Amino acid sequence: MVQLLCPSRHCVIGLAYQSPDGTANPEAVVHLKAMFDLMVAGDITTLGVLKPWCGLCKSKDLRAEDEATVFTTMDEAKPMLDELEREQAATRTFWEASKG
Ligand SMILES: [Zn+2]
Repeated sequence: MVQLLCPSRHCVIGLAYQSPDGTANPEAVVHLKAMFDLMVAGDITTLGVLKPWCGLCKSKDLRAEDEATVFTTMDEAKPMLDELEREQAATRTFWEASKG
């Protein structure tokens, strides 16, 4: 799973992928950063237009981290990924509503 994290380790965006040999694929970081840039530019609006900083602590020091999970296949990981997606959506809704 590759994530774009601030120094406080808040995940700004993440992408799960299946590695055929279980090692990190450097192209995943390139893909995630390109996707993030397109979301900031408003060219991909699935999650709305993203700001180029952490929404929680406002840090612009965002770094990619690619780490293996305990799962060996995307099918195994899907229930957890779906749950994380639901939690992130709830957090985003709460956060946006609390801005007033
Ligand atoms: Zn942060």
